[in-house]
Amino acid sequence: MSPDSPIFDPAAFALGDREAAFTARARELAATRFAARAADYDREARFPTENYADLRDAGLLALCVPAEYGGRGANYREYMLTAAEIGRYCGATALTFNMHVCSCLWSGALADTLDMSVAERADHHRRRALHYARIVDEGQIYAQPFSEGGAAAAGAVPFATTAEIVDGGYVVRGKKIFASLSGHADYYGVLCTVPGSDGALSRRNTLYLAVAARAPGVSVSGDWDPLGMRGTVSRNLLFEDVFVPADEALMPAGIYYQAAMRWPHMFMTLTPAYVGLAQAAYDFTVKYLRGEWPGYPQDRREGAAKKVNVAQMRIALEQMKCLWLQAVTEARLDPSREQLARAHAAQYSVMETANELAQLAIRTCGGQSMLKTLPLERLYRDSRCGALMLPWSADLCVERIGEAALYGDPAA
Ligand SMILES: Cc1cc2nc3c(=O)[nH]c(=O)nc-3n(C[C@H](O)[C@H](O)[C@H](O)COP(=O)(O)OP(=O)(O)OC[C@H]3O[C@@H](n4cnc5c(N)ncnc54)[C@H](O)[C@@H]3O)c2cc1C
Repeated sequence: MSPDSPIFDPAAFALGDREAAFTARARELAATRFAARAADYDREARFPTENYADLRDAGLLALCVPAEYGGRGANYREYMLTAAEIGRYCGATALTFNMHVCSCLWSGALADTLDMSVAERADHHRRRALHYARIVDEGQIYAQPFSEGGAAAAGAVPFATTAEIVDGGYVVRGKKIFASLSGHADYYGVLCTVPGSDGALSRRNTLYLAVAARAPGVSVSGDWDPLGMRGTVSRNLLFEDVFVPADEALMPAGIYYQAAMRWPHMFMTLTPAYVGLAQAAYDFTVKYLRGEWPGYPQDRREGAAKKVNVAQMRIALEQMKCLWLQAVTEARLDPSREQLARAHAAQYSVMETANELAQLAIRTCGGQSMLKTLPLERLYRDSRCGALMLPWSADLCVERIGEAALYGDPAA
């Protein structure tokens, strides 16, 4: 069993039994298996294939597949808490796990709350059964390539990747950048636009489509040698006249747009990886200074600044965790303006605090702590990536909070 305490103590934070069980399982798996592999994935910028085999064996690939389709039926909050425990031991595994899980969560628990016609819902249920069976029965992995290098991933303009309607399905054309799990996922959950009859692109016509990695016309390009989150292997994906059967739609046409408008907390699902990193930076600092980190028995607690810095880290961590849990707890269809602002604040806080804690940890622990034999310098580099993630990058969160406060409808 993992010796680490839970990030959110079940009794103190009033977690449900399922939340306590999922988080305990994830922590045990990640602490005993993922932690030891993280340095190699990072050094070699290699996908965490072995971790995915463990997630598959533990039934966690099907975490958010609804129970009636054979999955674990985890809801939004259960997923968020579980993934944070994974991020604590391997940020790249948690971040890529998010891409995979969203294909189930968005088409499952989240889609169940959205408006659909009876026919649309029946079609959706039939299609998602095919998709869930691949995960539950065959352990297949999904990625989530949205970014194109323009304003589309920020939600400002339609995706330039198109899905032309043809007999039996779609022909997909376009290019995605930063496609985590590229070359390792079995399916890419691509966001693309179905052009109107006049060829015009509209965000309302966004389609969320599963494209088989092996489909003719799909290729991976570019190298991958970034600062952090190196195990995500986020290379470019090219779609050249790729035929995709109609049943590969992960949501009916138009429903992704409704989800983005009405269920905005769906974009917070990138945060758990960074909540885990923040906790890891704090845990490392305390153990290292106390001489409790394996192989580093020296007591390094001397000096008033050590106490002050550790206290500052603890305060920032507690503030971030409480705000994050509150925002996660109130995630829902049609959140109020206040709830949305809180979600943006939580996203900003997680992404910035994780890196601030890692910085302070290095300053407090000293030069030896940033050697590559220890995890701290990786936590520092991985955590730097959080604020860049679209559509809720740190800069965009700040902009939206200010915009809503100063120009938003107070009655909303
Ligand atoms: C490790 C890692 C893994 C990733 N994995 C994935 C993945 O699996 N799938 C995926 O789709 N993407 C992924 N991304 C991409 C990520 O979400 C962003 O799309 C990407 O970092 C944007 O890079 P860019 O150079 O185009 O920056 P830009 O989009 O140009 O952003 C630069 C700055 O401008 C701001 N900005 C951007 N758009 C606007 C706007 N419309 N209005 C105002 N300000 C704006 C941003 O906040 C940022 O501060 C990943 C990124 C990283 C670092």
